[in-house]
This record gives sequence, structure tokens and C-alpha cells, in this order.
Amino acid sequence: MNRVLVLLGLTLSVGALLLGLSACERKAVDTSAMRNVVLISIDSLRADHCGCYGYDKPTTPALDAFAAEAVRFANTYAISPWTLPSHASMFTGLYPDTHLANRPRSKLHENNVTLAELLGKSDYFSHGIVCAPFLRSYFQLNQGFNTYDDRISRTHRPEVRQIKTSRDVTDRALEFLAEQQRQRRPFFLFVHYWDPHYDYNPPERYANMFDPDYTGDIDGLRISHRDDIVPGFNPRDLQHIVALYDGEIRYTDDHLAELLAELNKPPFAQNTAVIITADHGEEFLEHGSTGHTFTCFEELIRVPLLVRAPWMETEAKVIDTLVEIVDLFPTILTLAGQPAAEHDIHGYDLLPLIERGQAPPREVFFCETQQGRRYGWEGMRGDWFSLRDLAGMKVHYFRRGRINATDLFNLAADPYEKTNLRKSQKELSEQMALQLRRLHRDHSRQARQMDIRTERTKKRKKRKTREEKDLEEQLKGLGYVN
Ligand SMILES: [Zn+2]
Repeated sequence: MNRVLVLLGLTLSVGALLLGLSACERKAVDTSAMRNVVLISIDSLRADHCGCYGYDKPTTPALDAFAAEAVRFANTYAISPWTLPSHASMFTGLYPDTHLANRPRSKLHENNVTLAELLGKSDYFSHGIVCAPFLRSYFQLNQGFNTYDDRISRTHRPEVRQIKTSRDVTDRALEFLAEQQRQRRPFFLFVHYWDPHYDYNPPERYANMFDPDYTGDIDGLRISHRDDIVPGFNPRDLQHIVALYDGEIRYTDDHLAELLAELNKPPFAQNTAVIITADHGEEFLEHGSTGHTFTCFEELIRVPLLVRAPWMETEAKVIDTLVEIVDLFPTILTLAGQPAAEHDIHGYDLLPLIERGQAPPREVFFCETQQGRRYGWEGMRGDWFSLRDLAGMKVHYFRRGRINATDLFNLAADPYEKTNLRKSQKELSEQMALQLRRLHRDHSRQARQMDIRTERTKKRKKRKTREEKDLEEQLKGLGYVN
């Protein structure tokens, strides 16, 4: 009798549970067919300072664990060594001399077509979480996003160089993901981490992590305003500055770990593509300077790129083929199951390479900074263009007015660009520089065809808005404008 009652009770309980479950299921949203995309950009992260790219210090355990399950591109080029043009290229699939968000006071012109805009046509909800002054909505990189959270870059001033933001970024990203579980439409989430960007002042535990024996008094502050870190600088002190940069990377990675842990859980593990990259690298006197922005040497443009999507037909692997950040635009469209852009772009869809080993038909790799500064020509800023070919010959072309200079390196024999071949291989040097100038002309022509214009903020406008004053203060603080 008792047993019957117990059985009856069990049956009723299980029935109630099942009824409850089915009620929940009716409320829950079936997200299994969605193809969400999360794009994570870690500012100033050099590829060769990540464990999964061969670095010998434990700077990136979370990134390395992710890489073990992802497609890792071993050779990825940013197309500019600073924040604004590089992100604008991720979002438009165009080189900076076509999208024209390539000067410190240039906004992204509205005739550009952005990734978020195209995804929006298919009901994607696009959200951005950003920290850098150059990613504030003022520069219009929010074009096409449904919501764009640039509060972090607005609220912390003028100490923008020194603030720690990774905690805040991760919390906001987790909050967004929690909300998405109740939504019926797919999302595109752009997350921008900032802390490896100078200054290098990680919290104490991280400051001591990579150089515990240091007894000197050099710190990682005011990097863009100091004139003491020049060639001849004490190598032991420089080693310490690099250790502080590594501490910032590890600090960021520890927060990234929490975001990746959430993305590894259902439903995101099944319905979300995750792409991790950086906008540019960082230099530590390899070519006479510190920070970034001024040149297109390898240390400034080699960035990590990791791609994982549960619906990609591939195993985790490493791809050696050279690719560019500009390829993210068409690749993300394909990952989201969207048609290719109808206008001409410079990026190539990487899915054929990932799934079938078909390399993009690209023979030269382009980079530019309109903030160029050739070492030895102190204070002289000009246009810096670089081009490398598949064999590894790389030309740098600097110009300001009528003054110009060409440098040539052979990356196959000289990966750190130390031996300038401009005199010994004068003909090749001039030939590649000519090719570079033609390419730049083609890109500029395309901008005119698309009616993309340089949209500058007013440098000497008498009445600046409060936001413009605030932004000017931030950019001066970072050394981007005088
Ligand atoms: Zn940046």
C-alpha cells in the first residue's frame, strides 16, 4: 500500500515536472538554428606575445585554450598600426585609403557600408562594447549598430591611459549575453578590450608577474610623452617595460577567460561563432620608437586571429596562409549565413581557406598610416605605406610633401627588418614602391567612386562641444594629437 502511494506520488511528481518543463519549453526560445557572431578585438596585442603564437611566458592561458579548439591564423596582418583605421577596416572590408577614417580627426564617412548595417538587413541585433577614444560613437564606427556602449571611453578621463577596463568590459558583455537568451533574433556582438594599450601599469600582482627580480625604478607610464626611451636605453629597463606590457596582456586574458567560459556553455557553444583578434601590435625600440601608430614594421602589424564556429566544417588547426584583418568583413558575413557584399571590397572570405584549403587570390599585402614617422626624422609626420609580396619582400614608402624615402627588406631572410636593401636592390625597391603608389591611387579612386569623403572634425573650431573638448583632451593624453 505504502509502496503504491509512493509510486503514485512519484508518478505525480514526475508528471508535474514534465508539465512544468513543457511549460518552460514553450516559453523558452529555440536558439539552436541561430548563427550569432562575437568579434573580440584586444587593443595593441602583438601576436608574438601570445602563448599560442610561441611566446615563452604565460601571458595568455585563456586565449591559448581557446586556440586549441579554434582555427588559428599564424600570419595575420593588421592593415594599419593604430586603432581607428584598423577597426574601420574590420567593419568595412576596405583599406584605410578607401574608407578614409585614417587620420586622427577623421570620422567614418556615412557612404561606407558597415558589417553591422548588412547584418541588420537580416534582422541581426548588433551591439558594441568599446573602450578606446577612437572607437567612441563620435567617430561614427557605430554606423549600423543597434546599440553601442561607449560609456567606458567616455567616463574615464583624462586618465584614459591608465584606467583598467577589462573587468567592466567582461561584465557588460556577460550582461548582454544573458539578455540574448530571451531573444528571438540572432546577434552580432563586438567587444573591445583596451588594457594592453599603453600606459603599462597593470595591477600589482600582474606588474610583478613577468619580472619579479627587477630592482630599478623605471615605470610604464606616459609612454607616448617620454623622450628617455630612445635607442641606447638601458636594456634591463626596457625588459621591465616589456614585462609590464605582458602583465597588462595577462590581466586582460584573465578577464577574457570569464567571457570565453560563458561562450563555451549552451546555448552559445552551439550557436555562436567567436573571433578573436587585435587592431595592431606594439613596438619596443625595434625600429627606434615605442607605442604604435608611426610605422608598418612587423612588430606593429602582426596580430593574432582565431576563429571558431560550431557549424564550420573543420577541426581545430593552424593555417599558415597570410591573411589580413580586412578579411573579417566578408568572413563574418559568411559565418552569419549572409550573402556577400554587393560592392567591391578588399577583404576575402576566409571560409574556403578554412574548410577547403583554398587560399585567397591575394599577391600583395598592404598597410598604411597617415601618422607615419620615420626614425631619424624626428617630429616629421607623413604618409607611410608598406607592401609585401608572397615571397616576403617588403617595401616601406614614406612621404611628406616632396620629401620621400623608400626602404626594402627581405622578410624570408630578415624577419625583424634589420638589413635595409634599398641600395643593394635599388631596382626592386623602386619597382615595388611604384606598385605601392599605384595601389594607393586605385584605393583613392575607389573612395571617389563610392563617394566616400574625408569627414574631418574641426581642429580649430571656435565653439567645440563638450564632447569634442573631452575627446581632444583624451587624444592629447594618448599622444595622438598635439
Ligand atoms: Zn589600438
